[in-house]
Amino acid sequence: MKRFILAVLLLVALNTTLKAQADSILLNQYRPKVVHNVAVTQVNEAAYPVIDVHSHPYANTLEEVERWVQNMEAVNIERTVILTYSVGERFDSLMSVYGKYPDHFEVWCGLDLRHYEEPNFTEQMVTELERCHEMGGKGIGELSDKGWGLRSGTMTAYGFHPNNPAFEPVWQRAAELGMPVNIHVADPIWMYEPMDETNDGLMTAWRWRLDNRDDIVDHAGMIRILEETIRNNSETIFIACHYANLSYDLHQLGRLLDVYPNLYADISARYAETAVIPRHAAAFITRYQDRLLFGTDMGYNPHMYRTTFRILETEDEHFYEHSLFGYQWSLNGFGLSQQVLEKIYRKNAIRLFDNIRSE
Ligand SMILES: [Zn+2]
Repeated sequence: MKRFILAVLLLVALNTTLKAQADSILLNQYRPKVVHNVAVTQVNEAAYPVIDVHSHPYANTLEEVERWVQNMEAVNIERTVILTYSVGERFDSLMSVYGKYPDHFEVWCGLDLRHYEEPNFTEQMVTELERCHEMGGKGIGELSDKGWGLRSGTMTAYGFHPNNPAFEPVWQRAAELGMPVNIHVADPIWMYEPMDETNDGLMTAWRWRLDNRDDIVDHAGMIRILEETIRNNSETIFIACHYANLSYDLHQLGRLLDVYPNLYADISARYAETAVIPRHAAAFITRYQDRLLFGTDMGYNPHMYRTTFRILETEDEHFYEHSLFGYQWSLNGFGLSQQVLEKIYRKNAIRLFDNIRSE
């Protein structure tokens, strides 16, 4: 009897410990391992030589740039667009580093937003844009507006959104110079939602939360500002990056692409967000296969590149990439067709850049 009671007590204690463990696992420490015996496809190289239209000056020394070039060659990235956000001396120094590899990199400049409180703000932006173009800048970006005004790197023009008439001569000049504009508006939707147990993207949302800001234009407002900008400047090519932060409702992006031929979108840095809805995402990409551009925006590590290819090319299901993406959810491949892959990997970018640069 004594032994029996002891055994029961031990079981109760063990159960309590396990329960306490399960209760105390934090969502941001949750690292499940896949148990299913399903396809795991290793995609070492992209199916076609890739133009990556969304990257940043991650490499600072010539040595790092050389390593980047080697990584690109290893995974079949033909060319990378470096969105520098910068102007002036910073732009010139980046141009001199990446300009050493003109076949591998093209460099885009920022906008000179430093003088936004001065009356000749517009002229100063246009003058610096022309200078950067002269130096070899092939486009503008990444510009961003998360609701408090246009930003280019560390420069912010508070209260000046891209639809502001002050920018019209700049967008016009960009069109004349054959420079597309890469623009980030708003942020993923769950950053605007309450930071509670119902928030689907809580893992990343709390880090870049916007729900607690009442001094900014909200998500819907920013999409309206984007629409006004592309409508009022129809000669200028705008590349709304990260699916215009509409990965939660691709119908909205589809409508904009249907209405405005000067709008393109890049798919950078929204792989995890779309890999949870693989059939819907694949149908969207297939429908808008002429208007979407491949981008990464996540450094230059070969594993990062290969993960993006795996998501686009394979039909692999339920895999995790905790080291690349901060979400608790698993990923699934889109299994895009060869025709669609070739367009988004390279053909669309080549056609678009050739067209506007030769006009
Ligand atoms: Zn970016």
